[in-house]
Amino acid sequence: MTDETDPSRVEALRSALARVQERIAVACRDAGRDRSSVHLIVVTKYFPAADVCRLADLGVTDIGENRDQEAAAKMADLPEQVRRRLTVHFIGQLQSNKARHVPTYADVVQSVDRSKIAGALDRAAGEHDRRLEVLMQVDLSGAQGRGGVSVDAAPQLADAIAELSHLRLRGVMAVAPLGEDPAAHFERLATLAHDIRAQHPEAGWISAGMSGDLEAAIHAGATHLRVGSAILGSRPAAR
Ligand SMILES: *Cc1c(COP(=O)(O)O)cnc(C)c1O
Repeated sequence: MTDETDPSRVEALRSALARVQERIAVACRDAGRDRSSVHLIVVTKYFPAADVCRLADLGVTDIGENRDQEAAAKMADLPEQVRRRLTVHFIGQLQSNKARHVPTYADVVQSVDRSKIAGALDRAAGEHDRRLEVLMQVDLSGAQGRGGVSVDAAPQLADAIAELSHLRLRGVMAVAPLGEDPAAHFERLATLAHDIRAQHPEAGWISAGMSGDLEAAIHAGATHLRVGSAILGSRPAAR
């Protein structure tokens, strides 16, 4: 691992994290919400395990990763006392072969969008003798194919997930469609989340809001934010 005490990197992360925490505090105040009802997940994809260690030292408790191989290697690189303090969220698109691997290093899978994936996660979690927390990823674009179950099909998928003994359905996750005002989309997500929760009382999490739209998400009732570039800096171009 590279030098995780690198003072300039620690300082950059500290000040960026403080700015994001301030944005969250202001948005909670504006929305009349308690700050403790909103959880920050720092998305560390493309950034090294050393940054995860630095963030953990700065008080970050939840991190998000979106690619199986990268996430598995990074988690294996973390010192045990750092890994133990973190909740690791997998937020990327899944194929069923990859899904079998994710429960070996993740605590929460936010991107369950079909019953085949849910089944693969359930079997893998069972083999590792654990219960995995999962969110349903919902497609708000209506475009199909970019990952996510449609709003219409979501209640049925929720029922299917709830049947699986090694999964615990905790709620919904979505990404606002690019280039559109996120507020209306987040409101639709909140309405869906409310309906799902009526059937599945443990499914109260709403994971919405990223670096560019976290305020809109907080106003619409998000419980979990997934913030990457506003804290870690811009990512290298997608590989
Ligand atoms: C990368 C990613 C994020 C973080 O995005 P930023 O705009 O960098 O904050 C959030 N959610 C998902 C699903 C992602 O893949």
